[in-house]
Amino acid sequence: MRPYTLRCPDCGQKIEEDRYTLACPHGCSALIRAVYRKRTLDLRNEPGIFRFADWLPVEGTIASPAGPVTFRSEALSRDLGMKNLWIGFSGYWPERGARIVTCSFKELEALPTAVRMRETGSGTLVVASAGNTGRAFCQTAAVTGVPVVVVAPSAAAKRLWTTEETENVCLITVDGDYSDAIAAANELCTSPGLVPEGGAKNVARRDGMGTVMLDAAVAIGRMPEHYVQAVGSGTGGIAAWEASMRLIGDGRYGGVLPRLHLAQNAPFVPMVGAWQAGRREIVPEIDMPDAGASIAAVYSDVLTNRNPPYGVRGGVFDALSATRGAMYAVKNREAREAGKQFAEAEEIDPDPAAAVAVAALARAVETGAIDPDAAVLLNVTGGGYLRAAEDHDQIVVEPALRIATGAAAGIVPDVLSWVKRHA
Ligand SMILES: *Cc1c(COP(=O)(O)O)cnc(C)c1O
Ligand SMILES: [Zn+2]
Repeated sequence: MRPYTLRCPDCGQKIEEDRYTLACPHGCSALIRAVYRKRTLDLRNEPGIFRFADWLPVEGTIASPAGPVTFRSEALSRDLGMKNLWIGFSGYWPERGARIVTCSFKELEALPTAVRMRETGSGTLVVASAGNTGRAFCQTAAVTGVPVVVVAPSAAAKRLWTTEETENVCLITVDGDYSDAIAAANELCTSPGLVPEGGAKNVARRDGMGTVMLDAAVAIGRMPEHYVQAVGSGTGGIAAWEASMRLIGDGRYGGVLPRLHLAQNAPFVPMVGAWQAGRREIVPEIDMPDAGASIAAVYSDVLTNRNPPYGVRGGVFDALSATRGAMYAVKNREAREAGKQFAEAEEIDPDPAAAVAVAALARAVETGAIDPDAAVLLNVTGGGYLRAAEDHDQIVVEPALRIATGAAAGIVPDVLSWVKRHA
């Protein structure tokens, strides 16, 4: 028996067998969840994220040093006039024990996903990504040997590198934007044997991100009162909420859900618009007018998801509602300044998305939304790029196939033959 079952929060039914299941078999739209047999969290003797394997949808583990790290902030905390600020750092900073070589918390999603696929799936994972996710999956394929097909816009391909040479990545570049890459990935996944990774629907991905909250609760000794993160899909916010519910069930970490403070980068702020209007639905004409131009204008492009799991049951709207959360629209200038302030105070370079989160935290303290004495977890979702470049090779992944927009159907035989050779 696997150490977890899956449950649909819509119809309440249990899904006994996990076959890399992404949705309720009864046709419900809610995000299905993992229910772990162990209600209390025992830390395993593992070097990285698999310390939390009790609450990851896996049986086996990988001896990867990549994992979340939590420490108490001194300098930034002082700058902001705070007393109890904790930083969850998911990036590369070996002096602090942070060893995510691709420098973002996407590796926390990719590692358990690769194990879950190996244990429950049949087929080869397909991931569409413009950046951090793709790099994390490439790296994970390199270290685990679990092959992956990555579809990326050609302009983003240079961001896809690994620290080890690998044969386990089939990179397909599309002459188009991120939406075109997603469309190509979807087209590929209509072929048997090519399996969509699942995004927010993938419990391994959410519970992998949720380890940032678990690590913080263990480090602080209790759950924080507030959780601050920059979001594009909001999956990290959903994951923090779900992890908090499990921690309440554990009983040792407090009984109050941390409030979620989620930030987007203006001018592309669809979830901020919908949330502040009190709507469960994103209305594109109102919440993301001129989406293309807005996306092109932001400082942090990993925060530009056009179809976030916002209104779906168990999604961002529910997470914000349950935690009495708030959303913030952060301008480029504010984000740049906050990023500079963070780098000077904590002496590590933040990912631009993390800079957006720092700006939101500063504003929340200023407006009184966050009490300066409260226990706060700032999720620094990426960083340490400069440090990582000093210590590791960054080998750019060569595209196996290059296609024009809308041409994915034509390469299916090539992809399947790649899979045959590598899987
Ligand atoms: C993907 C990403 C985010 C946004 O994460 P979601 O919770 O999926 O919206 C934030 N920061 C970094 C560095 C990321 O790569
Ligand atoms: Zn259901």
